[in-house]
Amino acid sequence: MLDRFGRNIEYLRISVTDRCNLRCIYCMPEKGISSIGHEEVLRYEEIIKLVKIATELGINKIRITGGEPLIRKDLVNLIKLLREIKEIKDISLTTNGVFLEKYIDDLINAGLDRVNISLDSLNPKIYKHITRRGNLNDVIKGLKKAIDSSIRPIKINVVVMKNINDNLEEFAKMSMIEPVHIRFIEYMPVTGIEKIRELTEKEMLNELNKYGKLIKPKNPLGHGPAIYYKYKNAMGTIGLICSNSHNFCDKCNRLRLTSDGKLKPCLFGEEEVDIKTMLRNNVSDNILKEAFKKAIYIKPQKRKINKKIHYMYHIGG
Ligand code: SAM
Ligand code: SF4
Repeated sequence: MLDRFGRNIEYLRISVTDRCNLRCIYCMPEKGISSIGHEEVLRYEEIIKLVKIATELGINKIRITGGEPLIRKDLVNLIKLLREIKEIKDISLTTNGVFLEKYIDDLINAGLDRVNISLDSLNPKIYKHITRRGNLNDVIKGLKKAIDSSIRPIKINVVVMKNINDNLEEFAKMSMIEPVHIRFIEYMPVTGIEKIRELTEKEMLNELNKYGKLIKPKNPLGHGPAIYYKYKNAMGTIGLICSNSHNFCDKCNRLRLTSDGKLKPCLFGEEEVDIKTMLRNNVSDNILKEAFKKAIYIKPQKRKINKKIHYMYHIGG
């Protein structure tokens, strides 16, 4: 379905939980987090019902995110149920990778098409500092198993922060020898954490050019916001996602469904439609469809960073 500004909204990001086993410094506060009560979280059958309605408006791509989606019980079953919806052409997952080794085979068998792994450093100490709790080795084991599996493409998301993880040498080398697409992401200042500074696109390119000459790949991946490069003869690619240096709003084709059942047309704005309350009041499918239309209608033309502090784990980044 086209929105008011001619963008074709075909991509739904579903957050299945706001809980997480990690506490990344740019995403979650260390303490004092109040999670949504279990009864407030959309059940799988509710998610499936909403997705079926959304397909009638042209949604054909789903990304499962969170919080950490792999800590939600029986996620494999949700993937299986989504796969049965024939209008859905693409199902992907964004995960911190800690439990990927355990679940990747079952996820692939259930019909998962693609995986994005968030991994901000290949140095165990820096990784621990950023995630506050994680063990790098767990993620590496999951990543290796994904590389050995049939799932492609495998993307790695790295939020690059000045003086924290701004040495990109290990990732540059990894992109040369592994079939992975490493995307360096500008930190988005939505949390009000003043100590964290992003590395700009120019600074990332300066850093990456130290390790070899970057060229434009022949077949750049996807239609998303990343600008892709690669090192000569490399197995993988390098992507830059710089939402502060550039503004992607004119190409944004997304709608988000939060774990507590709110439709959000923009990651940065306060606009939302409470579709869960309607669903639980047993309204007709037509009214639910109207709720999707409303969310698409109120999608802003351009992002306005909401002054209220909000963390990505809550909405689903
Ligand atoms: N737990 C999963 C993970 O980490 O991949 C999924 C949820 S996480 C909120 C989704 C993505 O949002 C991650 O790639 C994370 O790095 C990114 N993210 C969170 N806060 C961010 C921020 N302030 N700026 C840029 N990216 C952020
Ligand atoms: Fe958890 Fe992902 Fe946020 Fe890190 S980025 S705290 S893994 S939700």
